[in-house]
Amino acid sequence: MEKSVVLDELVRMSLSLGRPEMDYVILGEGNTSAKVDDESFYIKASGAQLCRSTRETFVEVKSSKIIDLLDGPDLNDEDIKERLLAARVDKTSPRPSVETVFHAYLLTLPNVRFIGHTHPTAVNTILCSNAAEDIVKSRIFPDEIVYCGLAPLFIPYVDPGLPLARGIRFEVQKYMDTEGEVPKVILMQNHGLIALGAGASDVEAITAMWVKTARILTGAYLLGGIHPLSQDSIDRIHTRPDEEYRRRMNT
Ligand SMILES: [Zn+2]
Repeated sequence: MEKSVVLDELVRMSLSLGRPEMDYVILGEGNTSAKVDDESFYIKASGAQLCRSTRETFVEVKSSKIIDLLDGPDLNDEDIKERLLAARVDKTSPRPSVETVFHAYLLTLPNVRFIGHTHPTAVNTILCSNAAEDIVKSRIFPDEIVYCGLAPLFIPYVDPGLPLARGIRFEVQKYMDTEGEVPKVILMQNHGLIALGAGASDVEAITAMWVKTARILTGAYLLGGIHPLSQDSIDRIHTRPDEEYRRRMNT
């Protein structure tokens, strides 16, 4: 995909995720990114509102300069800001979002080219509850698995910025070792959702489907308890050829 097409797709996806009626984000919440190539990616500028996204509210940054932070020393907030500014391809671009580091890591994963991070009310209702980790263990209906994969990855609360990016890398690697695939949904306790996709429309579909899942989980929990699908059913849905076809039709 050409660079300008990537940016236009990112703007379109961000406007879609930022629509007020979706209740995924308000004000400057959330951030989105898209991979240009192995050298660079676009990320939302700090403080920009998704519902007002334009080409100018995104910054192109050099991937290696951000990835280096993951294995470097601990940095304070000021140092991080400096390093994010230094990673810009065009030095007149605005400051990249403070959550740029986890985007940089996730965009190195196989078949991940677009990322949408939001704070949907329906999802955070679960993630801010005492029962969060327990509730999100259940898979509850076929379309959840078709669009969102075998299971979401749950990340216990960590300080945003570098500690969160390191925590995400640790948990994603553990998930890939266990499940043998890249997660499509990451749930951050007391924080929000990350959708990982090969295309912008994947990110929109995954976000919409997991927000619906969250609403159903909450309702079922309140109606006496969640009735989960069996592992056999989950495995069957995940490998069915007709479900694979439906998944591909969306991209
Ligand atoms: Zn966030």
